Amino acid sequence: MNDSKYVPSAREQAFLDTVENPRYERESINGLRPFFDEKMPDDMRDFYSAVELAELKALKGTERDVEARMPVKLTRHYFELAQKSAPIRRLVKASPGETESLEGSEDPGNQMDYSPVEGLLHKYEMGLMYVVSTCSAHCRFCYREELIGRKEIERQDGTVAKKGMAQIPDIVRYIHEHNQAVEANGGTHPDTGREKLREILLSGGDPMVLSNAKIAAWFGALAEAGIESIRLGTKEMAFFPQRFDQTFLDMLDNFHKTYPEVGLRFMVHFNHPDEFLLKDDNGNYVKEEGGALAWHAETKRAMNGLVSRGWLCVENQSPLIKDINDDPDALRIMQRALKRVGANNHYFFCGRDIVAHKAFNISIEEAWRILNDSQKGLSGVETHARLSITHYLGKTEVVAVTNEPMEGVKGAENGVVIFKLLRNAADAPDRGKVCIVGRNPDAIWFDGFEDRVLFDEAGLFDYQRVQKDSPSSITV
Ligand code: SF4
Repeated sequence: MNDSKYVPSAREQAFLDTVENPRYERESINGLRPFFDEKMPDDMRDFYSAVELAELKALKGTERDVEARMPVKLTRHYFELAQKSAPIRRLVKASPGETESLEGSEDPGNQMDYSPVEGLLHKYEMGLMYVVSTCSAHCRFCYREELIGRKEIERQDGTVAKKGMAQIPDIVRYIHEHNQAVEANGGTHPDTGREKLREILLSGGDPMVLSNAKIAAWFGALAEAGIESIRLGTKEMAFFPQRFDQTFLDMLDNFHKTYPEVGLRFMVHFNHPDEFLLKDDNGNYVKEEGGALAWHAETKRAMNGLVSRGWLCVENQSPLIKDINDDPDALRIMQRALKRVGANNHYFFCGRDIVAHKAFNISIEEAWRILNDSQKGLSGVETHARLSITHYLGKTEVVAVTNEPMEGVKGAENGVVIFKLLRNAADAPDRGKVCIVGRNPDAIWFDGFEDRVLFDEAGLFDYQRVQKDSPSSITV
């Protein structure tokens, strides 16, 4: 942590002076204790059955304590959505099944290897910052459970500590130092080979739980430091869409007026159309006049507030999670409904190998089939989303799963899975390189293919190590 105080520029201060900070009442329930002690509003009492509560209580204090793995949190808005949706209940309700297997990595993707400053991950030309360690509600499948649960993890240097939050003075100094070194070296950093740090993602946790003033302070500081595009990753439009109120939109407008050259990208996180489409009492989606599916008024207002500002963009990304959205029909509805209102479908993710991932992940091949099936019948612009899996080398696309054998290639009798590296560290020298493995319908992570690597120019596997066990190899 840096003790030096950050001093905003005059232009930045003038922008910050315009920001209003209302209080928001999310009516959140924190933890299972209010349910155990029946200290929650009357209408929420049946959210967990007596049997469910007894099972969860029996795990308290044991290795399988679900709250020790991932804190429980729920907003009233999300509770109300959950009344008409089994996937939403599954997303937010703790269940004993979560901790049946605690296998998994505390630092999926070896992210901490790329943390030059507390709270910042700098792997690509883009940086990701942890600016807060909670969200309005908590997804049980959260791939940042170590951050939300404030767990201690091991760093590359062997030290063990909780992940810290990014601080403006540290981050601004790092951006200046990095970008000056890049410029002096003709476009790439002399030590790491990375290009200019031009894009930063505010993440956590959900930055939308911060006040307008805090978000504005980050925006202003990043803009002054020369960042060209700012992203904000948020699930608030699902958990508490009322947060996107006029004061927040005014802050965005004033930011844009002050820094018109800086792009803003909202990376929203809808997992299922039940999070934004209106349902009747029979659980069917309500249609608008004309036949399109109607949105919840508050969510529609929030989304319109963003997409109506043509100088920012809205991109949805979501993992594919067992019993939540492993459903081609739901995904088809979601992709179509989002694109109709102007939000783009960016990525779907295979679940990460987080601790307890077995309760949530579906197999890689199943994820590809579900997404592919969901995109049948959608128009070209509705099917922009790709299936991505985060390898420790970088973001990787699951390009295809074939059913037919590859003639003459041992190990491809049941078809193959084709991966393509989309990004890797520094200036992505290996982008576009592919890896082909024999199929394994049970594989939920790369290690499930280790014994059947056929071709790996991308280097996703330690090819030398697995080569001797591989059924075959092909060359190009
Ligand atoms: S919104 Fe994201 S960070 Fe927050 S609990 Fe859900 S998955 Fe985790």
